[in-house]
Amino acid sequence: MQLKGLNDHQIQAVKALEGAVAVIAGAGSGKTRTLTYRIANMIDNNIFPSSILAVTFTNKAAREMKERVVDLIGPQGFAPMISTFHSFCARFLRDEIEHLGDTYTRHYLILDEDDAKQVIRDTVKELNLDPNRYNSNRLKDYFSKVKNGQYDSLEYEEEKVFIKYNEYLKVNNSMDFDDLLNYTLKILKENKAVLDMFQERYKYILVDEFQDTNIIQYELILLLGSKYKNVFIVGDPDQSIYGFRGANYENYTFFLRDFKPQIIVLDQNYRSSMHILTAANNLISNNRNRKTDKLLKSDLGDGPLVIKEVRESDKDEAYFVARAIEILVHGGYQFKDIAVLYRSNAIGRIFEEAFLRYNIPYIIYGGISFFSRKEIKDMLSYIRLALFEHDNISLKRIINTPRRKIGQTTISKLEAYAAIHHISMYEAIDRINIGGQTREALQSFKKIIQVLRDEITQIYDLTQVVDLALQLTGYEEMLRLEGNEGKDRYDNIQELKSIFYNGAVDYKGTNLEKIEQILDDMALKTDLDLEDDKNTVKVATIHQVKGLEFKAVFMVAMEETVFPSDISGSFTEIEEERRVAYVGVTRAKERLILSHAKQRFRYGQTQYNSPSRFIEDMDLEKNKEKRLVVEQEVAPEVVQDDIHVGDSVLHEKYGKGVVVMKNDEITRVAFSIEFGIKLFTTGHQALKKI
Ligand code: ATP
Ligand code: MG
Repeated sequence: MQLKGLNDHQIQAVKALEGAVAVIAGAGSGKTRTLTYRIANMIDNNIFPSSILAVTFTNKAAREMKERVVDLIGPQGFAPMISTFHSFCARFLRDEIEHLGDTYTRHYLILDEDDAKQVIRDTVKELNLDPNRYNSNRLKDYFSKVKNGQYDSLEYEEEKVFIKYNEYLKVNNSMDFDDLLNYTLKILKENKAVLDMFQERYKYILVDEFQDTNIIQYELILLLGSKYKNVFIVGDPDQSIYGFRGANYENYTFFLRDFKPQIIVLDQNYRSSMHILTAANNLISNNRNRKTDKLLKSDLGDGPLVIKEVRESDKDEAYFVARAIEILVHGGYQFKDIAVLYRSNAIGRIFEEAFLRYNIPYIIYGGISFFSRKEIKDMLSYIRLALFEHDNISLKRIINTPRRKIGQTTISKLEAYAAIHHISMYEAIDRINIGGQTREALQSFKKIIQVLRDEITQIYDLTQVVDLALQLTGYEEMLRLEGNEGKDRYDNIQELKSIFYNGAVDYKGTNLEKIEQILDDMALKTDLDLEDDKNTVKVATIHQVKGLEFKAVFMVAMEETVFPSDISGSFTEIEEERRVAYVGVTRAKERLILSHAKQRFRYGQTQYNSPSRFIEDMDLEKNKEKRLVVEQEVAPEVVQDDIHVGDSVLHEKYGKGVVVMKNDEITRVAFSIEFGIKLFTTGHQALKKI
């Protein structure tokens, strides 16, 4: 294979086929590129493609890597296992789960974050605890930390919820994301034969973004790799940004101890021009706890100066960014070359409003994810229940959607009956003593599921199954009656079909296995994985764009209390925040624009924040400030009512919601998961501020 397009150090790493290797290098130095070429080169050197396991941090990164390997060496490139830790574990468990010796079966269900939080809420309610005090977001986070080995104790009542939550998951043959990793590790630790088999299967292991692996993930690498020790890791200590989730940079020290790798350093940045790199170098040099004090340098020239912009309000800032994007696009940039990055999810909404007004196509990550939209989950639940009638969680989701007069009391009765008799809720339908109309409704629901099952097992084509489900269940009709919003939801379901259609080639195994893999992937997906070839501006948190690059990057809301966040106070936390800023800066290839606002509406009040210390850290004065020519653009007048983005509102039918976007024509409100997001004309009487 030609190793054109690599420098000497990169070639050295690519050619080191056997033994452990650690590539430790700064942002944009070609670590991921080197790892990808190495996979291709291994196959080119007759290493059996399916003996290669590469783990990456996001599904998107995995997909890009696969495409790249196929580009380099052709269809053989499809054979290596290139996936995230979670997808790898999900597949492992489909085959090996019976070794747990537990009640789990291979058709276990993966619960995404929202599902898991719902189970927590139900549990809190069942235990008669105060849902405000035992908030599901907070508990989910704690539970995750316990499962990751970060916490070892919970307060008494929390512990009760934790135990009940896990029991519920077990009884319902389901797992959260943390369980996927933990159970995989448990099986490998306790079953020598299984471990042997997997050590033989994956003789070559590669890990991207090693700095963000947590202790459980490291243990997995250690177990799988300890026999042949062909483990290749790439990472950058300055980009370690998941400490709060238990990522542990000590893993690198352990790796040195356990694998005694050859160490390769890459010192040339190929991504960014020098003004950007100088800002990055200055910034990170303020961290005292650094593993190396490397400087990034590139041959790409000075490039444009880094721009710093201050605006009166958060809204002005959003309009500034919108105008600046227009100017960049006018000057030849495409929308997809541009990213707007911030520290925490809540900041994104105000940009949505400005971009809508300016007709700037954008995709916002971390809002209500495509894969957690109600209509998408409903369709997936119909499919799952048709395939696996024991899946009570899916059953509960759709038994009365569309409405078929099966009320909460009936559902609770079914659940209790099923629990007592150790059968599924689906089976309980026939056995439970319920009369009259409800009985009929239950039977016709069951009939629908049977028809869907026949369809799936005869044709194994999920796109057709979705069409059938839309018709049979009355779902399509229900959406039609919802008008415009129903149309959006219908379009989402069509998008789901195209994901099924496009994804079908990626899977191996029997028809049923393929379908199960598709469903697993759906549970593990994030918006970042949606087809993003579309020409849209990416609006995201910095964490979400790790490893990616953009011609122009706007880092917005660069303000104290926002970034660094007001929840980070300790020395270590501030240093981690600074690394997050460093990751943001180093995403930019050509242009970096930093902005902050004097006033920001946050947590229901107006805040006055000073500029982020990280701007100061970048020492831009040396860069000589220069402004992008952006006309002063004030935000258009908004029809006045007292409802603002972020406010809680009450609606007679939909209950409590939060305003997620507002301009003078429309106000968007997110209600509970059952109702989702609704649009209102601004000033609408039906919304009452609470
Ligand atoms: P990060 O730390 O952000 O994950 P990285 O070290 O993984 O960065 P890559 O994403 O692999 O870096 O590479 C950064 C950019 O530099 C990419 O556009 C890549 O194609 C390019 N690049 C890497 N090596 C070379 C090279 N030898 N010649 C030309 N371009 C290169
Ligand atoms: Mg990378």
